[in-house]
Amino acid sequence: MKVTYGEKLFDPRWLEKKKRILARDNNRCVICGKSNGKLCIHHKQYHFIKRLETHVEPWNYEDKYLVTLCESCHNRGHYRYQVPIKYI
Ligand SMILES: [Zn+2]
Ligand SMILES: [Zn+2]
Repeated sequence: MKVTYGEKLFDPRWLEKKKRILARDNNRCVICGKSNGKLCIHHKQYHFIKRLETHVEPWNYEDKYLVTLCESCHNRGHYRYQVPIKYI
Protein backbone atom coordinates (compact mmCIF):
# COMPACT_ATOMS: atom_id res chain seq x y z
CA MET A 1 0.00 0.00 0.00
CA LYS A 2 1.27 3.43 -0.89
CA VAL A 3 1.68 5.82 2.00
CA THR A 4 -0.31 9.00 1.46
CA TYR A 5 1.11 12.46 1.99
CA GLY A 6 -1.22 12.98 4.94
CA GLU A 7 0.12 9.88 6.67
CA LYS A 8 3.68 10.97 6.08
CA LEU A 9 3.02 14.06 8.16
CA PHE A 10 2.86 11.78 11.20
CA ASP A 11 6.20 10.25 10.41
CA PRO A 12 8.66 10.84 13.29
CA ARG A 13 11.21 12.19 10.81
CA TRP A 14 8.74 14.87 9.73
CA LEU A 15 7.76 15.67 13.33
CA GLU A 16 11.44 16.22 14.16
CA LYS A 17 11.93 18.47 11.16
CA LYS A 18 8.76 20.37 11.94
CA LYS A 19 9.89 20.98 15.52
CA ARG A 20 13.17 22.39 14.24
CA ILE A 21 11.51 24.75 11.76
CA LEU A 22 9.00 25.94 14.38
CA ALA A 23 11.85 26.68 16.79
CA ARG A 24 13.81 28.51 14.08
CA ASP A 25 10.78 30.70 13.30
CA ASN A 26 10.06 31.27 17.02
CA ASN A 27 6.75 29.39 16.74
CA ARG A 28 5.27 32.24 14.73
CA CYS A 29 3.84 32.67 11.30
CA VAL A 30 6.60 34.32 9.23
CA ILE A 31 4.04 36.46 7.36
CA CYS A 32 1.73 37.88 10.03
CA GLY A 33 3.59 36.94 13.22
CA LYS A 34 0.65 35.10 14.72
CA SER A 35 1.78 32.63 17.37
CA ASN A 36 -1.48 31.16 18.61
CA GLY A 37 -3.66 28.73 16.74
CA LYS A 38 -2.57 26.13 14.30
CA LEU A 39 0.77 26.58 12.60
CA CYS A 40 1.74 24.73 9.45
CA ILE A 41 5.09 24.10 7.87
CA HIS A 42 4.92 25.11 4.26
CA HIS A 43 7.19 23.88 1.48
CA LYS A 44 8.28 26.75 -0.78
CA GLN A 45 9.19 24.31 -3.51
CA TYR A 46 8.51 20.69 -4.18
CA HIS A 47 11.31 18.60 -5.53
CA PHE A 48 10.65 15.74 -7.84
CA ILE A 49 13.35 13.17 -8.44
CA LYS A 50 13.12 12.32 -12.13
CA ARG A 51 15.15 9.15 -11.87
CA LEU A 52 12.93 7.68 -9.15
CA GLU A 53 9.72 9.30 -10.40
CA THR A 54 8.85 10.42 -6.93
CA HIS A 55 8.80 13.50 -4.74
CA VAL A 56 11.47 14.08 -2.14
CA GLU A 57 10.18 13.00 1.28
CA PRO A 58 8.82 16.03 3.14
CA TRP A 59 11.52 15.76 5.84
CA ASN A 60 14.38 15.60 3.34
CA TYR A 61 14.15 19.22 2.25
CA GLU A 62 16.76 21.73 3.31
CA ASP A 63 15.45 24.03 6.04
CA LYS A 64 15.56 27.03 3.70
CA TYR A 65 12.69 25.57 1.68
CA LEU A 66 10.44 25.34 4.73
CA VAL A 67 8.60 28.15 6.53
CA THR A 68 6.17 28.38 9.41
CA LEU A 69 2.76 29.81 8.50
CA CYS A 70 -0.52 30.16 10.35
CA GLU A 71 -3.48 28.41 8.84
CA SER A 72 -4.96 31.52 7.20
CA CYS A 73 -1.69 32.72 5.62
CA HIS A 74 -1.06 29.16 4.49
CA ASN A 75 -4.48 28.82 2.87
CA ARG A 76 -4.23 32.25 1.30
CA GLY A 77 -0.79 31.43 -0.09
CA HIS A 78 -1.95 28.19 -1.64
CA TYR A 79 -4.97 29.89 -3.10
CA ARG A 80 -2.88 32.59 -4.78
CA TYR A 81 0.24 30.76 -5.82
CA GLN A 82 1.06 27.35 -6.98
CA VAL A 83 4.07 25.77 -5.30
CA PRO A 84 6.78 25.46 -7.95
CA ILE A 85 8.04 21.99 -8.65
CA LYS A 86 11.72 21.58 -9.31
CA TYR A 87 12.77 18.50 -11.22
CA ILE A 88 16.02 17.15 -9.94
ZN1 LIG B 1 -0.11 34.22 9.30
ZN1 LIG C 1 1.89 24.73 1.97
